Amino acid sequence: MASPEIVTTSSEQETLALGRRLAETLQPGTFVLLHGDLGAGKTAFVRGMAAGLGADPGDVSSPTFVLIQHYKGRVPLTHVDLYRLDSGAAVDDLGLEEMGNGAVVAIEWAERLPRPLDNSVTVKIEDLGGDSRRITVLR
Ligand code: ADP
Ligand code: MG
Repeated sequence: MASPEIVTTSSEQETLALGRRLAETLQPGTFVLLHGDLGAGKTAFVRGMAAGLGADPGDVSSPTFVLIQHYKGRVPLTHVDLYRLDSGAAVDDLGLEEMGNGAVVAIEWAERLPRPLDNSVTVKIEDLGGDSRRITVLR
């Protein structure tokens, strides 16, 4: 496995830029597993990913009630938030594996996945206080 890339960002814009840069390198069928507390910047990172995939970053929001959103781009982006799912069985029902057909899939609260997914990149975001975030990308 490649060594992790660890970056500290000091603004939301820098986190967007990192998400954008990562997404530009991704093939359809890749799962991006986002870990981090509420407000860490997972959705911000996905907004950057949308830009990198040629989708409209303005469409990317924190899905409060919506679990799954699809964005059209050069490569389609599927955005999943598992925050409200409390059991592995419920996650199973989503059919996550199939979502990778032809799309990049970004999953917030990936710690709730019952088992690992193939073709995944893990992104861990830690709030260091203020606007600082330590972002670890493991691919
Ligand atoms: P999450 O999806 O992890 O709950 P959001 O992306 O919705 O988090 O929110 C992150 C919040 O933190 C936003 O209000 C954003 O403006 C703020 N923020 C401050 N600094 C940063 C940073 N370096 N990277 C990302 N977000 C940041
Ligand atoms: Mg979020």
